[in-house]
Amino acid sequence: TAQLIDGKAVARRVREEVGRGVEKLVADGGTAPGLATVLIGEDPASEVYVRNKRRLCVEAGMQDLHRHLPGDVDQDAVAALLDELAADPAVSGILLQLPAPDHLDSEALITRIPAEKDVDGLTTANAGLLAQGRPGLRPCTPAGVMELLAEHGVELSGAEAVVVGRSVLVGKPMAQLLLAKNATVTMAHSRTRDLAAVCRRADVLVVAAGIQGLVGADAVKPGATVIDVGIHRGEDGLRGDVEFDAVAEVAGAITPVPGGVGPMTIAMLLANTLTAAKVQQGFGD
Ligand code: NAD
Repeated sequence: TAQLIDGKAVARRVREEVGRGVEKLVADGGTAPGLATVLIGEDPASEVYVRNKRRLCVEAGMQDLHRHLPGDVDQDAVAALLDELAADPAVSGILLQLPAPDHLDSEALITRIPAEKDVDGLTTANAGLLAQGRPGLRPCTPAGVMELLAEHGVELSGAEAVVVGRSVLVGKPMAQLLLAKNATVTMAHSRTRDLAAVCRRADVLVVAAGIQGLVGADAVKPGATVIDVGIHRGEDGLRGDVEFDAVAEVAGAITPVPGGVGPMTIAMLLANTLTAAKVQQGFGD
C-alpha cells in the first residue's frame, strides 16, 4: 500500500523554518513581519481559518494585524481599509479572507492589494509573474503541494503530471508550478472526456475539483503519487476528492485528508509573509 505523505509534519517543519527566518530578520536589524488578515462578516468556516492563520502567525514570531469588518460593510469601506493596510509599513502581507459576502466585488477588492503584499498570490500581477516564470508570491495551496513533492523526493522533470481542476486559486497555478519543474502537465476539468483515462497517465496526480470521491482506484496508475486538495466536511469528519482507501492500494504515495495538503496552506502563507517582509525591508534574496 501507498506511502503516506504527512502534511502535518512538513507544515511544522516549514513553520519552524519561518520562525527562524523571522528571528534572523530581527537580529539583522529588520522588523518582525506583520500579517493583516481581513475578515468580513461572521462565516463560521472563515472564522476558523482566520483564527488558525492568526495563531500560527504569532507562533512564528510575526505580528498579528488582524482586522474584522461587519458583514454589511460597503465596497468603499473595504477598499479604504485595504488602501490603509497597503500604505502601512508595519503590514508585510494582506490576506482578504474569501469568500466575501455576495454584495461585495471581491475581484475589485483583490486588485487593491499591492503585489508585494499579496501573500495569497491572487493578484493578476502575481499570476502574471508565475505564468512568465518570474519571481513573485505564489498561491499558498499549490506552493504547499510543491513543498510536499520536494520533501518526498518526487521526480518531476519529464514526469507526467495531471492536475484535475482549473481554478485561479488552485488548479491553474498548480499546473504552472509543475511546468516550471519541467513536468509534462495535463489539465483536466469538468469538460474533460474520460477523466479516469487521463488521470491514469499521471506519475503525479493532483486533484482539486471540489467533488468528494471523484477519483477512484480506476483513475490511478500503479505507483503514482496522488495529492488530494479537496476538503469536504461530512458527518464522519473531513474527506477529500480522492477515494482514499481504494486509491491507497494502488498509489505509490498519497496525501490523507485531513493532514495532507490542508496544513501546508497556512505554512506557505507564513513563508510568503516572511518573504514579503524581507523584500520590503531590503533583505530580499
Ligand atoms: P473550484 O470549485 O473553484 O474549482 C473546481 C475545479 O474543478 C473547476 O476548475 C472545475 O472545472 C473542476 N471540476 C469540477 N467538476 C469536475 C469533474 N467532474 N471532473 C473534473 N474536473 C472537475 O474549487 P477550488 O477552489 O479549486 O477548490 C477545489 C477543492 O479544494 C475544494 O474541495 C476546496 O475546498 C479545496 N481546497 C482546499 C485547500 C486546502 O488548503 N487544502 C485550499 C483551497 C481549496
